[in-house]
Amino acid sequence: MPIRDDVLVVGGGLAAATSALAAAETGKSVRVVAHKKSTLRQASGLIDVLGYVGGEGPHADPYAAMADLPEDHPYRLVGEDGVREGLRLFDEAVGEMYAGGHTDANALVPTYGGTVKPTARYPASVEPGLASVAEDTLFVGFEGTTDFAPGVVADHVAAAGVPFETRGARVPFPKTFRDDARLTRFAKALDEDESAGGRSVGVRRALAETVADHLDGEERVGFPAMLGDTHGDEVRADLSDRLGAAVFEVPTGPPSLLGLRLEDRLFDALDEAGVRIATGNPAVGYESDDGEIGAVYVDRQGTRVPYHAEQFVLATGGLVGKGIDSDRERVTEPVFDCHVPHPDDRYDWSESAAFGDHAFARFGVVPDEELRPTEPSGEPHFSNLRAAGGVVGGADVAREHSASGVSLATAAVAGGRAGEEA
Ligand SMILES: Cc1cc2nc3c(=O)[nH]c(=O)nc-3n(C[C@H](O)[C@H](O)[C@H](O)COP(=O)(O)OP(=O)(O)OC[C@H]3O[C@@H](n4cnc5c(N)ncnc54)[C@H](O)[C@@H]3O)c2cc1C
Repeated sequence: MPIRDDVLVVGGGLAAATSALAAAETGKSVRVVAHKKSTLRQASGLIDVLGYVGGEGPHADPYAAMADLPEDHPYRLVGEDGVREGLRLFDEAVGEMYAGGHTDANALVPTYGGTVKPTARYPASVEPGLASVAEDTLFVGFEGTTDFAPGVVADHVAAAGVPFETRGARVPFPKTFRDDARLTRFAKALDEDESAGGRSVGVRRALAETVADHLDGEERVGFPAMLGDTHGDEVRADLSDRLGAAVFEVPTGPPSLLGLRLEDRLFDALDEAGVRIATGNPAVGYESDDGEIGAVYVDRQGTRVPYHAEQFVLATGGLVGKGIDSDRERVTEPVFDCHVPHPDDRYDWSESAAFGDHAFARFGVVPDEELRPTEPSGEPHFSNLRAAGGVVGGADVAREHSASGVSLATAAVAGGRAGEEA
């Protein structure tokens, strides 16, 4: 029996999940085909909407800052309404996992490198550490783990001009693991309150006792985001009670437990919305008739299987996710071969300064007002294909601190329209 849905979403990250949720809200049948795990598992779990424009910032109000973005920026196409709709879908999908009570203003969140990041949404476990709250803070890291240096984090956060004192302390984790133990192993020990090495007490109590020796009146304590996985709320509450201080998680780099938790939650939300999900195989091509796509081919162990639908959303990510590909000569979009403008001369793709205004950062398909990828003429490639997320060009999401916001906003519009038209 042929595989047939109203809407087919190609991709497996934040943009694909949000597109599928938006389409499912219209009551249509929706399927997601995803090749591999997305960048969510490496990402901080923060949802940045817009922090900087043209190198200026951080901006307190991302909506006001949008007016200064270039005309071809995706936010200019979807408008403030599109951004708000993306955030609404996100808030409903994640529920209490993310802190409620958001305003339109950016929050300032300390991260593992010690930067203070302007962001629109953050996990509830991060909330007690917001830099706008004037409470002295102790950052705690663990011996044997090098990627979270508490002293450096404390110094950098202080240098950012925050209105409170910061200190760092490195302590031994109360249980010894193999040198190559993953972050999830620490989280599991805290989740299950395993017995501390060589002692008859649990790791939570042992950890709290060790950290208490370093506390010097600080009102809150920040740990790298590894305070439990399935029982995180309980772990934080337990540590907080024992320490007599608020306890929070600092978003880390890859591998990121906050990102993994978010990915799990989004896929649960897709299940709850009745979206079908097929993972592990790539979309490799399509069939079309008279400018309309009829099916996408998915490579299943060497067999090209057609997935039919009325409407399609391309959400395969940017250069990192492989939604945009490049060789020495060209930049391409591999599934539908949509047009990706780029300078002919490869030396013009980047600047010499590492954090410069690189052309490659904005590579992606060029959407029309319906978010349909367009040909060089400005006409849509296909009447029933829309694009969302990192595959859409025109935004320098790393410099702007806008990656997840662009994904949510474009996905809300692309997925919603696809659902309405199917
Ligand atoms: C290290 C890191 C840190 C980040 N930190 C932040 C942050 O702090 N704040 C923030 O707002 N954002 C952050 N982001 C960005 C954010 O996580 C997403 O990368 C961004 O929103 C783009 O999401 P996406 O869904 O478009 O693409 P991706 O997450 O790249 O997902 C693309 C998906 O498409 C699938 N795919 C690709 N090709 C095919 C195909 N042919 N067939 C089927 N499936 C395919 C991939 O396997 C993948 O599942 C970070 C990203 C990274 C990598």
